[in-house]
Amino acid sequence: MLANYGYKDGSGEFFITIDTDRCNGCGDCVPACPAGAFEVAEEDPNDPLREEPVALIGEAQRKKLKYACAQCKPASSRPPLPCVEACKAGAIAHSW
Ligand code: SF4
Ligand code: SF4
Repeated sequence: MLANYGYKDGSGEFFITIDTDRCNGCGDCVPACPAGAFEVAEEDPNDPLREEPVALIGEAQRKKLKYACAQCKPASSRPPLPCVEACKAGAIAHSW
């Protein structure tokens, strides 16, 4: 399933989506993110029947992703995002 973490406001929609069917809980996204946005949970809060660990966005970052991610998304260019690059499973996507 697609787990969406984030919010929308007058300036746009700021969601990080984790495809939990692709995520294998490897944890590579955790050290890759300078904002510390990712956590790996032993139990999926959205799917109690899942047996593997799964990545999610921590509570503290969910309401400020636009600002947390600004360090990876300078206005003048769009370099590869560290979290997306780190995830070999291709489970991470951003809405903006
Ligand atoms: S790097 Fe990708 S596969 Fe690994 S825990 Fe993070 S989201 Fe899941
Ligand atoms: S864009 Fe940067 S700050 Fe935002 S989640 Fe990815 S690695 Fe972390």
